[in-house]
Amino acid sequence: PIIEFPQVYDMLARMKSETQAARAITYEASRLMDLRRILERRQEGSRDPALRSRLKEVSALTSVLTPMAKAYASEMAVRAAYDAIQIHGGAGYMREFPVERLWRDARITTIYEGTTQLQVVGAMGGILSGALSQYLAQKGEHDYRPELARLAMLAREAREKLSATVARLKALNDRDYTDYVSRRLVDMACDCLAVHLLLDQAQRDAARTLPAEKVISEALPRIRMQADHIAAGDKLTIERRADLL
Ligand SMILES: Cc1cc2nc3c(=O)[nH]c(=O)nc-3n(C[C@H](O)[C@H](O)[C@H](O)COP(=O)(O)OP(=O)(O)OC[C@H]3O[C@@H](n4cnc5c(N)ncnc54)[C@H](O)[C@@H]3O)c2cc1C
Repeated sequence: PIIEFPQVYDMLARMKSETQAARAITYEASRLMDLRRILERRQEGSRDPALRSRLKEVSALTSVLTPMAKAYASEMAVRAAYDAIQIHGGAGYMREFPVERLWRDARITTIYEGTTQLQVVGAMGGILSGALSQYLAQKGEHDYRPELARLAMLAREAREKLSATVARLKALNDRDYTDYVSRRLVDMACDCLAVHLLLDQAQRDAARTLPAEKVISEALPRIRMQADHIAAGDKLTIERRADLL
């Protein structure tokens, strides 16, 4: 059976792991949206400064997590549907199997209701302001179970790379370069968020340790790569755009 081929089970395992990451991000964005509505209702007629400040914090988080959820989930759905066709071989391209339809259905989700590029524009404010980094730092303050020590250390590395990248971009103060690398930064932020949410799941339920390990082992090399890429400050494409295109 083709599932015995490492390249095939690698595709299947990544499809499953990215689906779990997308669900975690989407549920967290939804939870924060519900919380925001509750706080908004509570704030009507209230002058409680603590409530106002909590509402401000939660609103800032929903503004960044909502576009991240849309971007991450729709882009991973395209990757999963693409690999699903690949695993079916030539038959996957034909109409006799539903996977080609799944690919077309997935493909539009990165376009309508705001393209991925517009989700990136929407998420950048909350990433550059440090709102997301602060939220991840709070998550990381947990006392994790001893078996999760290695994963918690990797989560720390992920959020430190994100914070350092944001600090570097702010110090650079170069609007063109920041816009140019914005997709990389948002992809990196989505991976960092998934790492922390899956780690939380593993903390609450030992049965979620393996999915967390898989998501973290896939995400960390990407986070390091994006951080290195952004830090390199390569402006070739910006400066030579006319010649390159
Ligand atoms: C099947 C289908 C159903 C649809 N249903 C609806 C519906 O029910 N209601 C509705 O209102 N619309 C609907 N649409 C329209 C859909 O929402 C738009 O196609 C989508 O928002 C993209 O807009 P656009 O096609 O004008 O592309 P454009 O906005 O012209 O974008 C073209 C490209 O430029 C990029 N781009 C644009 N602005 C920026 C920017 N600031 N920074 C970086 N990149 C940028 C985009 O990401 C994209 O890659 C539907 C479309 C389809 C195909």
